[in-house]
Amino acid sequence: MTNTAAAASAIYTQILDVVSTVEPRVAEAIRSELSDQRASLKLIASENYASLPTLMSMGTWLSDKYAEGTVGHRFYAGCQNIDTVESVAAEHAKALFGAEYAYVQPHSGIDANLVAYWAIMNLRVESPTLTRLQAATVNDLSESDWEALRREFNEQKVMGMSLDAGGHLTHGFRHNISGKMFQQCSYGTNPETGLIDYDALRTSAREFKPLIIVAGYSAYPRRVNFAKMREIADEVGATLFVDMAHFAGLVAGKVFTGEENPIPYAHIVASTTHKSLRGPRGGFVLATSEYADSVNKGCPMVLGGPLGHMMAAKALAFAEARSESFQTYAAQVASNAQALAEGLMKRGVRLVTGGTDNHLALLDVSTFGLTGRQAESALLDSGVVTNRNSIPRDPHGAWYTSGVRIGTPALTTRGFTEDDFDQVAELITEVLTNTTPTSTPKGPSKAKYVITEGVADRVRARAGELLDACPLYPGLVL
Ligand SMILES: *Cc1c(COP(=O)(O)O)cnc(C)c1O
Repeated sequence: MTNTAAAASAIYTQILDVVSTVEPRVAEAIRSELSDQRASLKLIASENYASLPTLMSMGTWLSDKYAEGTVGHRFYAGCQNIDTVESVAAEHAKALFGAEYAYVQPHSGIDANLVAYWAIMNLRVESPTLTRLQAATVNDLSESDWEALRREFNEQKVMGMSLDAGGHLTHGFRHNISGKMFQQCSYGTNPETGLIDYDALRTSAREFKPLIIVAGYSAYPRRVNFAKMREIADEVGATLFVDMAHFAGLVAGKVFTGEENPIPYAHIVASTTHKSLRGPRGGFVLATSEYADSVNKGCPMVLGGPLGHMMAAKALAFAEARSESFQTYAAQVASNAQALAEGLMKRGVRLVTGGTDNHLALLDVSTFGLTGRQAESALLDSGVVTNRNSIPRDPHGAWYTSGVRIGTPALTTRGFTEDDFDQVAELITEVLTNTTPTSTPKGPSKAKYVITEGVADRVRARAGELLDACPLYPGLVL
């Protein structure tokens, strides 16, 4: 590790000099991003720090090659090295997750979800128009053919978790293409417990009869029982699609096992690589053999050429996640989240669902008289980086919100343990307790606030001490 850091220091110094010869402002932004990341107490639940080998493998000429198609079946000549990189990445992904098939081309989580949706449509939608057209090998579609095709595909039904319960935009939200493409009916959480109500879900699934049930979330602080999800999907004839973008690291690291491991239960799984999995920015899809051919239609259906340099970085991240040290990391992420949640609750902070059993927690800051936006800003002023997030049935909507989402994957990568997270809980509570909305003639402001004199500086200094004890990329000097 020290050797890697020493090599990285020399390499990045030279790279930045070279970048500077073309556009010094970009070199400067790259340099500043490192110091900013080092200096902030990053609690954003969807962020992490990729390893130096993973970062280094992204900046290469693999980016210069077009390789539309799949391994061994490319629409361009000379793809042998991209073939190698893509097959190594897929091999590691399959072994890591115990999946029958892995498709590592998607450029992001949203792309991976679109690939998954289209694979399901490809396999499962019976389109009389398409069958008729294929039989006739017609190239020029009439206006009525187009209309029929759109209708046959757009009338499909998807059931995902609602955005305000913690689901993702791509699970059928009305302003996302998934909400425009499909008829959708979302499931939420129980108003009392804040937990997914599987019985209610089963009842709505029986009524709605979706083609696809989406499980997975961005802001739900609890584990999901995928065996129950699959049972419901089977009962109504739906495909179970699990979007594990947020918690892939906990699956890879074997924190989620048995009925909490989506792989044995889902027909198809999509994910990002850059959140708890700690890889480069990107996406991938895992599938049962039944769905493999349809998943391979990701290009040309929703993707163009794959990003060779990013598939190389994914290969490294998947390989790293197969190590025992990654399992230790994942267990620590979960245990740190417990410590953080307990630390907050014992200091009087209300958490949605009364705690967490994954890598994230959702704070209800309305008990401090604050909106999520005020809390997020006051924390940022104090060197604590979080993001505001709506809570179930949020009175302040998706812009101001009443919640703040926090997670442990990034700081755990830096080496934070339970005691550090108890301190983090102390800092968060101190900021929230000392922040007051500015009053306006119409009542308290939803955006403006004041922090008690001296608090932001004190918290920032204390956060700095915690960060200094756990350096980011130790030994990397720029
Ligand atoms: C983050 C996230 C995505 C989207 O990932 P991008 O890489 O930002 O496109 C999709 N689904 C879920 C559940 C997520 O949390």
